[in-house]
Amino acid sequence: MIDTHAHIHFPQFDEDREEVIKECEEKLDAVITVGCDLEDSKKAIEVAGQGRNIYASVGIHPHEAKNYSEKDYERLVEIVRSSSKVVALGEMGLDFYRNISPKEKQYEIFKMQVEAARELDLPVIIHTRNAAKEMAEFIKKEFKGELKGVIHCFSGEKVLLEAALDEGLYISYAGPVTYPRNEELRETLRYVPSSRLLVETDSPYLAPQPVRGRRNKPTYVAYTAKVISEYLNLSFSDIDRITTVNAKRLFGIPLTDEEKRERLVYKVGNRLYINLSTRCPCSCKFCFRGVEDYILGYNLNLKREPIAEEYMYRIKNPKVYDEIVFCGYGEPFERFDDLTKIAKWIKKFSKDTPIRVDTCGLGYLITGREDLLDHLKGLVDSFSVSVNASSPEEYYKVVRPSFGKGSWESLLKFIKDAVSKGFKVTITAVDYPGFNKDDFEKLAETLGVPYRIRPYKRFRNWQS
Ligand code: SF4
Repeated sequence: MIDTHAHIHFPQFDEDREEVIKECEEKLDAVITVGCDLEDSKKAIEVAGQGRNIYASVGIHPHEAKNYSEKDYERLVEIVRSSSKVVALGEMGLDFYRNISPKEKQYEIFKMQVEAARELDLPVIIHTRNAAKEMAEFIKKEFKGELKGVIHCFSGEKVLLEAALDEGLYISYAGPVTYPRNEELRETLRYVPSSRLLVETDSPYLAPQPVRGRRNKPTYVAYTAKVISEYLNLSFSDIDRITTVNAKRLFGIPLTDEEKRERLVYKVGNRLYINLSTRCPCSCKFCFRGVEDYILGYNLNLKREPIAEEYMYRIKNPKVYDEIVFCGYGEPFERFDDLTKIAKWIKKFSKDTPIRVDTCGLGYLITGREDLLDHLKGLVDSFSVSVNASSPEEYYKVVRPSFGKGSWESLLKFIKDAVSKGFKVTITAVDYPGFNKDDFEKLAETLGVPYRIRPYKRFRNWQS
Protein backbone atom coordinates (compact mmCIF):
# COMPACT_ATOMS: atom_id res chain seq x y z
CA MET A 1 0.00 0.00 0.00
CA ILE A 2 1.19 3.53 -0.70
CA ASP A 3 0.51 6.60 1.41
CA THR A 4 0.42 9.14 -1.41
CA HIS A 5 0.36 12.19 0.85
CA ALA A 6 2.13 12.57 4.17
CA HIS A 7 4.36 15.16 5.81
CA ILE A 8 6.79 13.00 7.76
CA HIS A 9 9.43 15.73 7.45
CA PHE A 10 7.24 18.01 9.66
CA PRO A 11 8.40 18.76 13.26
CA GLN A 12 5.64 16.48 14.64
CA PHE A 13 7.89 13.58 13.59
CA ASP A 14 11.17 14.98 14.95
CA GLU A 15 11.07 12.72 18.02
CA ASP A 16 10.49 9.38 16.32
CA ARG A 17 11.10 9.91 12.60
CA GLU A 18 13.61 7.09 12.34
CA GLU A 19 11.12 4.65 13.85
CA VAL A 20 8.30 5.90 11.60
CA ILE A 21 10.47 5.49 8.50
CA LYS A 22 11.47 1.99 9.58
CA GLU A 23 7.81 1.09 10.02
CA CYS A 24 7.02 2.52 6.55
CA GLU A 25 9.80 0.41 5.05
CA GLU A 26 8.47 -2.72 6.71
CA LYS A 27 4.76 -2.26 6.14
CA LEU A 28 4.19 -0.01 3.12
CA ASP A 29 5.23 -0.06 -0.55
CA ALA A 30 6.00 3.66 -0.49
CA VAL A 31 5.25 7.02 1.14
CA ILE A 32 5.31 10.46 -0.48
CA THR A 33 6.26 13.23 1.89
CA VAL A 34 4.89 16.46 0.49
CA GLY A 35 6.51 19.88 0.74
CA CYS A 36 4.51 23.03 1.49
CA ASP A 37 7.03 25.73 0.49
CA LEU A 38 10.53 25.68 -1.00
CA GLU A 39 12.48 25.41 2.27
CA ASP A 40 10.02 22.80 3.53
CA SER A 41 10.39 20.89 0.24
CA LYS A 42 14.15 20.70 0.79
CA LYS A 43 13.43 19.07 4.16
CA ALA A 44 11.06 16.65 2.43
CA ILE A 45 13.84 15.68 0.01
CA GLU A 46 16.27 15.21 2.88
CA VAL A 47 13.85 12.90 4.71
CA ALA A 48 13.12 11.00 1.48
CA GLY A 49 16.83 10.27 1.38
CA GLN A 50 16.57 8.53 4.75
CA GLY A 51 14.28 5.73 3.61
CA ARG A 52 14.42 3.28 0.73
CA ASN A 53 10.74 3.75 -0.17
CA ILE A 54 10.22 7.37 0.88
CA TYR A 55 9.70 9.85 -1.98
CA ALA A 56 9.26 13.61 -1.97
CA SER A 57 7.11 16.24 -3.63
CA VAL A 58 8.22 19.83 -4.09
CA GLY A 59 5.68 22.62 -3.96
CA ILE A 60 4.20 25.79 -2.56
CA HIS A 61 0.95 25.47 -0.61
CA PRO A 62 -1.63 28.20 -1.34
CA HIS A 63 -1.18 29.49 2.24
CA GLU A 64 2.48 30.19 1.41
CA ALA A 65 1.80 31.73 -2.01
CA LYS A 66 2.07 35.25 -0.53
CA ASN A 67 5.79 34.67 0.11
CA TYR A 68 6.62 33.81 -3.50
CA SER A 69 6.54 35.29 -6.98
CA GLU A 70 7.19 34.14 -10.53
CA LYS A 71 10.84 34.98 -9.92
CA ASP A 72 11.03 31.79 -7.84
CA TYR A 73 10.31 29.58 -10.87
CA GLU A 74 13.96 28.69 -11.54
CA ARG A 75 14.60 27.92 -7.87
CA LEU A 76 11.59 25.61 -7.78
CA VAL A 77 12.79 23.73 -10.89
CA GLU A 78 16.31 23.51 -9.48
CA ILE A 79 15.08 21.96 -6.21
CA VAL A 80 13.00 19.41 -8.11
CA ARG A 81 16.01 18.48 -10.24
CA SER A 82 18.28 18.15 -7.20
CA SER A 83 17.01 14.67 -6.30
CA SER A 84 15.78 11.58 -8.12
CA LYS A 85 13.49 10.97 -5.15
CA VAL A 86 11.21 13.84 -6.24
CA VAL A 87 8.16 12.28 -7.91
CA ALA A 88 5.69 15.19 -8.03
CA LEU A 89 5.08 18.89 -7.74
CA GLY A 90 2.87 20.21 -4.94
CA GLU A 91 1.07 20.60 -2.82
CA MET A 92 -0.30 23.49 -4.81
CA GLY A 93 -3.78 24.84 -5.33
CA LEU A 94 -6.46 27.11 -3.97
CA ASP A 95 -7.53 27.57 -0.36
CA PHE A 96 -10.29 30.11 0.14
CA TYR A 97 -11.17 28.95 3.65
CA ARG A 98 -9.15 31.56 5.47
CA ASN A 99 -7.50 33.25 2.49
CA ILE A 100 -4.13 33.32 4.25
CA SER A 101 -2.70 34.36 0.87
CA PRO A 102 -4.69 36.75 -1.35
CA LYS A 103 -6.66 34.95 -4.07
CA GLU A 104 -4.74 36.52 -6.96
CA LYS A 105 -1.47 35.42 -5.41
CA GLN A 106 -2.77 31.88 -4.99
CA TYR A 107 -3.68 31.74 -8.69
CA GLU A 108 -0.32 33.19 -9.72
CA ILE A 109 1.74 30.66 -7.76
CA PHE A 110 -0.53 27.77 -8.69
CA LYS A 111 -0.12 28.62 -12.39
CA MET A 112 3.63 28.89 -11.98
CA GLN A 113 3.79 25.38 -10.51
CA VAL A 114 1.54 23.97 -13.23
CA GLU A 115 3.98 25.38 -15.77
CA ALA A 116 6.89 23.75 -13.96
CA ALA A 117 5.04 20.41 -13.90
CA ARG A 118 4.57 20.70 -17.64
CA GLU A 119 8.25 21.47 -18.18
CA LEU A 120 9.44 18.71 -15.86
CA ASP A 121 6.79 16.20 -16.96
CA LEU A 122 5.79 15.42 -13.37
CA PRO A 123 2.36 14.92 -11.81
CA VAL A 124 0.81 17.60 -9.61
CA ILE A 125 -0.63 17.21 -6.10
CA ILE A 126 -3.60 19.53 -5.75
CA HIS A 127 -4.92 21.05 -2.53
CA THR A 128 -8.45 22.57 -2.56
CA ARG A 129 -10.41 24.04 0.29
CA ASN A 130 -13.63 26.05 -0.10
CA ALA A 131 -12.73 26.48 -3.76
CA ALA A 132 -14.21 23.46 -5.56
CA LYS A 133 -15.96 25.44 -8.29
CA GLU A 134 -12.94 27.65 -8.92
CA MET A 135 -10.63 24.62 -8.97
CA ALA A 136 -12.90 22.83 -11.46
CA GLU A 137 -12.74 25.88 -13.73
CA PHE A 138 -8.98 26.19 -13.31
CA ILE A 139 -8.38 22.53 -14.20
CA LYS A 140 -10.58 22.74 -17.29
CA LYS A 141 -8.85 25.89 -18.50
CA GLU A 142 -5.22 25.27 -17.60
CA PHE A 143 -4.62 21.52 -17.76
CA LYS A 144 -5.93 20.90 -21.30
CA GLY A 145 -5.56 17.14 -20.91
CA GLU A 146 -1.78 17.48 -20.77
CA LEU A 147 -1.10 17.07 -17.06
CA LYS A 148 -1.19 14.13 -14.69
CA GLY A 149 -2.13 14.67 -11.08
CA VAL A 150 -4.25 14.01 -8.05
CA ILE A 151 -6.91 15.83 -6.06
CA HIS A 152 -5.49 15.27 -2.60
CA CYS A 153 -7.77 14.68 0.41
CA PHE A 154 -10.88 14.90 -1.76
CA SER A 155 -13.79 16.25 0.26
CA GLY A 156 -16.73 15.24 -1.88
CA GLU A 157 -17.70 18.12 -4.19
CA LYS A 158 -19.40 16.80 -7.32
CA VAL A 159 -18.32 19.68 -9.54
CA LEU A 160 -14.67 19.06 -8.73
CA LEU A 161 -14.93 15.29 -9.07
CA GLU A 162 -16.43 15.60 -12.56
CA ALA A 163 -13.86 18.13 -13.77
CA ALA A 164 -10.98 16.11 -12.33
CA LEU A 165 -12.11 12.80 -13.87
CA ASP A 166 -12.76 14.46 -17.22
CA GLU A 167 -9.13 15.61 -17.09
CA GLY A 168 -7.93 12.11 -16.21
CA LEU A 169 -6.81 13.13 -12.71
CA TYR A 170 -6.69 10.76 -9.74
CA ILE A 171 -8.84 11.15 -6.62
CA SER A 172 -7.24 10.55 -3.25
CA TYR A 173 -9.17 9.84 -0.05
CA ALA A 174 -7.79 10.51 3.43
CA GLY A 175 -9.03 9.95 7.01
CA PRO A 176 -12.28 11.97 6.64
CA VAL A 177 -13.79 9.20 4.44
CA THR A 178 -13.79 7.02 7.58
CA TYR A 179 -15.65 9.49 9.80
CA PRO A 180 -19.18 8.29 10.63
CA ARG A 181 -20.87 11.51 9.57
CA ASN A 182 -19.22 11.67 6.13
CA GLU A 183 -21.69 9.45 4.33
CA GLU A 184 -21.90 11.87 1.38
CA LEU A 185 -18.15 11.72 0.90
CA ARG A 186 -18.21 7.90 0.97
CA GLU A 187 -21.01 7.96 -1.60
CA THR A 188 -18.63 9.63 -4.10
CA LEU A 189 -16.40 6.52 -4.05
CA ARG A 190 -18.94 4.79 -6.29
CA TYR A 191 -18.27 7.28 -9.09
CA VAL A 192 -14.47 7.05 -9.12
CA PRO A 193 -13.10 4.59 -11.70
CA SER A 194 -10.96 1.92 -10.03
CA SER A 195 -8.01 3.11 -12.12
CA ARG A 196 -8.27 6.61 -10.57
CA LEU A 197 -8.48 5.80 -6.86
CA LEU A 198 -5.71 6.64 -4.35
CA VAL A 199 -5.37 6.64 -0.56
CA GLU A 200 -3.36 8.88 1.75
CA THR A 201 -3.04 9.97 5.37
CA ASP A 202 -2.11 13.67 5.19
CA SER A 203 -0.23 12.82 8.39
CA PRO A 204 0.40 14.22 10.96
CA TYR A 205 -3.19 15.50 10.45
CA LEU A 206 -6.59 13.89 9.90
CA ALA A 207 -6.09 10.52 11.56
CA PRO A 208 -8.78 8.04 10.48
CA GLN A 209 -11.23 6.14 12.69
CA PRO A 210 -10.49 4.46 15.07
CA VAL A 211 -7.27 6.42 15.79
CA ARG A 212 -8.92 9.79 15.21
CA GLY A 213 -7.54 12.51 17.44
CA ARG A 214 -4.05 10.98 17.61
CA ARG A 215 -1.07 12.12 15.60
CA ASN A 216 -1.56 10.48 12.23
CA LYS A 217 1.21 8.43 10.59
CA PRO A 218 1.61 6.72 7.19
CA THR A 219 0.78 3.16 8.29
CA TYR A 220 -2.66 4.37 9.45
CA VAL A 221 -3.54 4.57 5.74
CA ALA A 222 -4.69 0.96 6.18
CA TYR A 223 -7.69 2.14 8.26
CA THR A 224 -8.82 4.35 5.41
CA ALA A 225 -8.32 1.57 2.88
CA LYS A 226 -10.37 -0.79 5.04
CA VAL A 227 -13.37 1.55 5.16
CA ILE A 228 -13.16 2.09 1.39
CA SER A 229 -13.03 -1.65 0.74
CA GLU A 230 -16.11 -2.23 2.90
CA TYR A 231 -18.02 0.56 1.22
CA LEU A 232 -17.19 -0.69 -2.27
CA ASN A 233 -17.83 -4.32 -1.38
CA LEU A 234 -14.27 -5.28 -2.22
CA SER A 235 -11.69 -7.03 -0.10
CA PHE A 236 -8.92 -5.16 1.70
CA SER A 237 -6.36 -6.76 -0.61
CA ASP A 238 -8.34 -5.53 -3.64
CA ILE A 239 -8.06 -1.93 -2.44
CA ASP A 240 -4.42 -2.48 -1.53
CA ARG A 241 -3.64 -3.76 -5.05
CA ILE A 242 -5.77 -1.13 -6.86
CA THR A 243 -4.37 1.90 -5.01
CA THR A 244 -0.77 0.66 -5.03
CA VAL A 245 -0.74 0.10 -8.79
CA ASN A 246 -2.48 3.44 -9.37
CA ALA A 247 0.02 5.34 -7.20
CA LYS A 248 2.98 3.70 -8.90
CA ARG A 249 1.62 4.51 -12.34
CA LEU A 250 0.91 8.13 -11.43
CA PHE A 251 4.16 8.87 -9.65
CA GLY A 252 6.45 6.81 -11.88
CA ILE A 253 7.41 4.34 -9.13
CA PRO A 254 8.42 1.10 -10.89
CA LEU A 255 5.75 -1.62 -11.06
CA THR A 256 6.75 -5.17 -10.18
CA ASP A 257 6.71 -7.80 -12.95
CA GLU A 258 3.61 -9.23 -11.32
CA GLU A 259 1.85 -5.85 -11.48
CA LYS A 260 2.82 -5.40 -15.13
CA ARG A 261 1.70 -8.85 -16.22
CA GLU A 262 -1.33 -9.09 -18.54
CA ARG A 263 -4.02 -11.01 -16.69
CA LEU A 264 -5.72 -14.03 -18.18
CA VAL A 265 -7.56 -14.65 -14.93
CA TYR A 266 -7.95 -12.30 -11.98
CA LYS A 267 -9.43 -12.53 -8.53
CA VAL A 268 -11.78 -9.96 -7.04
CA GLY A 269 -13.14 -10.80 -3.60
CA ASN A 270 -13.56 -14.57 -3.83
CA ARG A 271 -14.66 -14.60 -7.45
CA LEU A 272 -12.36 -15.54 -10.27
CA TYR A 273 -12.74 -13.62 -13.53
CA ILE A 274 -11.63 -15.01 -16.88
CA ASN A 275 -10.37 -12.46 -19.38
CA LEU A 276 -10.69 -14.13 -22.79
CA SER A 277 -10.47 -11.34 -25.30
CA THR A 278 -10.12 -7.62 -25.87
CA ARG A 279 -12.52 -7.77 -28.81
CA CYS A 280 -16.09 -6.55 -28.54
CA PRO A 281 -18.62 -5.83 -31.28
CA CYS A 282 -19.95 -2.84 -29.33
CA SER A 283 -18.54 0.56 -28.73
CA CYS A 284 -20.41 1.87 -25.67
CA LYS A 285 -19.96 5.57 -25.10
CA PHE A 286 -18.96 5.03 -21.48
CA CYS A 287 -16.57 2.11 -22.02
CA PHE A 288 -12.95 2.34 -20.78
CA ARG A 289 -11.70 -0.17 -23.37
CA GLY A 290 -8.77 1.32 -25.24
CA VAL A 291 -8.44 4.18 -22.73
CA GLU A 292 -7.26 2.23 -19.68
CA ASP A 293 -5.17 -0.95 -19.54
CA TYR A 294 -5.68 -1.35 -15.80
CA ILE A 295 -9.03 -2.19 -14.28
CA LEU A 296 -9.36 -3.08 -10.58
CA GLY A 297 -5.56 -3.00 -10.32
CA TYR A 298 -5.02 -5.61 -13.06
CA ASN A 299 -3.61 -5.14 -16.53
CA LEU A 300 -6.43 -6.59 -18.62
CA ASN A 301 -5.41 -5.33 -22.04
CA LEU A 302 -4.21 -8.61 -23.56
CA LYS A 303 -1.84 -8.30 -26.47
CA ARG A 304 -2.67 -11.85 -27.60
CA GLU A 305 -5.42 -14.43 -27.15
CA PRO A 306 -3.96 -17.34 -25.14
CA ILE A 307 -5.18 -20.90 -25.75
CA ALA A 308 -7.77 -22.50 -23.43
CA GLU A 309 -5.15 -24.68 -21.70
CA GLU A 310 -3.27 -21.58 -20.51
CA TYR A 311 -6.43 -20.48 -18.73
CA MET A 312 -6.90 -23.90 -17.13
CA TYR A 313 -3.32 -23.80 -15.93
CA ARG A 314 -3.92 -20.43 -14.29
CA ILE A 315 -7.31 -21.28 -12.78
CA LYS A 316 -5.66 -24.27 -11.06
CA ASN A 317 -8.38 -25.21 -8.56
CA PRO A 318 -11.87 -23.96 -9.49
CA LYS A 319 -13.31 -25.36 -6.25
CA VAL A 320 -11.93 -22.56 -4.10
CA TYR A 321 -14.00 -19.78 -5.71
CA ASP A 322 -17.53 -18.66 -4.89
CA GLU A 323 -18.15 -18.07 -8.59
CA ILE A 324 -16.21 -18.07 -11.85
CA VAL A 325 -17.11 -15.30 -14.27
CA PHE A 326 -16.24 -14.95 -17.94
CA CYS A 327 -15.78 -11.21 -18.02
CA GLY A 328 -12.72 -9.27 -19.03
CA TYR A 329 -11.63 -6.46 -21.19
CA GLY A 330 -13.87 -7.58 -24.08
CA GLU A 331 -16.76 -9.87 -25.00
CA PRO A 332 -16.44 -13.58 -23.99
CA PHE A 333 -18.58 -14.83 -26.91
CA GLU A 334 -15.86 -13.62 -29.26
CA ARG A 335 -14.14 -16.88 -28.23
CA PHE A 336 -17.10 -19.19 -27.94
CA ASP A 337 -15.18 -22.45 -28.50
CA ASP A 338 -12.60 -21.65 -25.83
CA LEU A 339 -15.28 -20.43 -23.45
CA THR A 340 -17.08 -23.77 -23.82
CA LYS A 341 -13.86 -25.76 -23.43
CA ILE A 342 -12.84 -23.91 -20.24
CA ALA A 343 -16.35 -24.08 -18.75
CA LYS A 344 -16.44 -27.87 -19.39
CA TRP A 345 -13.08 -28.26 -17.68
CA ILE A 346 -14.26 -26.23 -14.67
CA LYS A 347 -17.47 -28.22 -14.31
CA LYS A 348 -15.54 -31.50 -14.60
CA PHE A 349 -13.47 -30.63 -11.54
CA SER A 350 -16.04 -28.66 -9.64
CA LYS A 351 -19.61 -29.11 -10.79
CA ASP A 352 -20.96 -26.96 -7.94
CA THR A 353 -18.92 -23.86 -8.74
CA PRO A 354 -21.36 -21.47 -10.43
CA ILE A 355 -20.29 -20.07 -13.80
CA ARG A 356 -21.53 -16.73 -15.10
CA VAL A 357 -20.97 -15.08 -18.44
CA ASP A 358 -21.01 -11.29 -18.59
CA THR A 359 -21.99 -10.49 -22.15
CA CYS A 360 -23.23 -7.80 -24.47
CA GLY A 361 -25.97 -10.27 -25.47
CA LEU A 362 -25.05 -10.43 -29.14
CA GLY A 363 -23.90 -14.05 -28.99
CA TYR A 364 -26.09 -15.11 -31.91
CA LEU A 365 -24.61 -12.49 -34.22
CA ILE A 366 -21.02 -12.99 -33.01
CA THR A 367 -20.98 -16.79 -33.39
CA GLY A 368 -23.60 -17.17 -36.12
CA ARG A 369 -24.97 -20.10 -34.08
CA GLU A 370 -28.64 -20.43 -33.23
CA ASP A 371 -27.87 -23.42 -30.98
CA LEU A 372 -25.45 -21.45 -28.80
CA LEU A 373 -27.50 -21.70 -25.60
CA ASP A 374 -28.10 -25.44 -26.00
CA HIS A 375 -24.33 -25.92 -26.02
CA LEU A 376 -23.97 -23.99 -22.79
CA LYS A 377 -26.67 -25.88 -20.89
CA GLY A 378 -25.12 -27.49 -17.82
CA LEU A 379 -21.93 -25.45 -18.26
CA VAL A 380 -23.06 -21.88 -17.67
CA ASP A 381 -25.45 -21.09 -14.83
CA SER A 382 -26.20 -17.43 -15.41
CA PHE A 383 -25.81 -14.50 -17.76
CA SER A 384 -25.38 -10.87 -16.91
CA VAL A 385 -26.35 -9.00 -20.07
CA SER A 386 -25.22 -5.39 -20.55
CA VAL A 387 -28.19 -3.84 -22.30
CA ASN A 388 -27.55 -0.19 -21.40
CA ALA A 389 -30.68 1.11 -23.15
CA SER A 390 -34.42 0.78 -23.00
CA SER A 391 -35.25 1.41 -26.65
CA PRO A 392 -33.62 0.57 -30.00
CA GLU A 393 -32.98 4.29 -30.66
CA GLU A 394 -31.11 4.69 -27.39
CA TYR A 395 -29.27 1.40 -27.95
CA TYR A 396 -27.88 2.35 -31.36
CA LYS A 397 -26.89 5.78 -30.10
CA VAL A 398 -25.12 4.65 -26.92
CA VAL A 399 -23.99 1.02 -27.40
CA ARG A 400 -23.21 1.36 -31.12
CA PRO A 401 -23.01 -2.35 -32.09
CA SER A 402 -20.93 -3.06 -35.20
CA PHE A 403 -23.63 -5.39 -36.57
CA GLY A 404 -25.91 -2.38 -37.00
CA LYS A 405 -29.62 -2.90 -37.66
CA GLY A 406 -31.12 -6.04 -36.17
CA SER A 407 -28.77 -6.05 -33.16
CA TRP A 408 -31.45 -4.90 -30.73
CA GLU A 409 -33.84 -7.66 -31.83
CA SER A 410 -31.05 -10.26 -31.59
CA LEU A 411 -30.16 -9.07 -28.10
CA LEU A 412 -33.78 -9.35 -26.89
CA LYS A 413 -34.11 -12.79 -28.47
CA PHE A 414 -30.97 -13.95 -26.66
CA ILE A 415 -32.36 -12.79 -23.31
CA LYS A 416 -35.78 -14.38 -23.87
CA ASP A 417 -34.29 -17.66 -25.12
CA ALA A 418 -31.89 -17.82 -22.17
CA VAL A 419 -34.76 -17.33 -19.73
CA SER A 420 -36.92 -19.94 -21.42
CA LYS A 421 -34.04 -22.46 -21.40
CA GLY A 422 -33.68 -22.09 -17.65
CA PHE A 423 -30.57 -19.85 -17.33
CA LYS A 424 -30.58 -17.15 -14.67
CA VAL A 425 -30.48 -13.80 -16.48
CA THR A 426 -29.91 -10.29 -15.15
CA ILE A 427 -29.85 -7.25 -17.39
CA THR A 428 -27.60 -4.34 -16.51
CA ALA A 429 -27.13 -0.72 -17.47
CA VAL A 430 -24.76 2.08 -16.65
CA ASP A 431 -26.39 5.23 -15.34
CA TYR A 432 -24.79 7.49 -17.98
CA PRO A 433 -26.03 11.08 -18.53
CA GLY A 434 -29.43 10.89 -20.23
CA PHE A 435 -30.07 7.26 -19.21
CA ASN A 436 -33.77 6.58 -18.58
CA LYS A 437 -34.04 4.47 -15.45
CA ASP A 438 -37.85 4.17 -15.43
CA ASP A 439 -37.98 2.84 -18.98
CA PHE A 440 -35.18 0.40 -18.22
CA GLU A 441 -37.15 -0.88 -15.25
CA LYS A 442 -40.15 -1.40 -17.53
CA LEU A 443 -37.98 -3.26 -20.06
CA ALA A 444 -36.75 -5.61 -17.33
CA GLU A 445 -40.35 -6.18 -16.25
CA THR A 446 -41.45 -6.97 -19.81
CA LEU A 447 -38.58 -9.43 -20.18
CA GLY A 448 -39.33 -10.91 -16.76
CA VAL A 449 -35.74 -10.56 -15.50
CA PRO A 450 -34.08 -8.71 -12.62
CA TYR A 451 -31.94 -5.68 -13.42
CA ARG A 452 -28.94 -3.89 -11.97
CA ILE A 453 -27.89 -0.30 -12.56
CA ARG A 454 -24.22 0.53 -12.20
CA PRO A 455 -22.91 3.99 -11.37
CA TYR A 456 -21.53 5.94 -14.27
CA LYS A 457 -17.81 6.65 -13.91
CA ARG A 458 -16.43 9.47 -15.95
CA PHE A 459 -13.01 9.33 -17.57
CA ARG A 460 -10.94 11.49 -19.86
CA ASN A 461 -12.58 12.21 -23.22
CA TRP A 462 -15.68 10.12 -22.49
CA GLN A 463 -17.77 12.66 -24.43
CA SER A 464 -16.06 11.80 -27.68
S1 SF4 B 1 -20.32 -4.16 -24.27
FE1 SF4 B 1 -18.92 -3.94 -22.51
S2 SF4 B 1 -16.86 -4.25 -23.33
FE2 SF4 B 1 -18.22 -3.91 -25.09
S3 SF4 B 1 -18.04 -1.73 -25.50
FE3 SF4 B 1 -19.81 -1.99 -24.15
S4 SF4 B 1 -19.03 -1.74 -22.05
FE4 SF4 B 1 -17.25 -2.05 -23.42
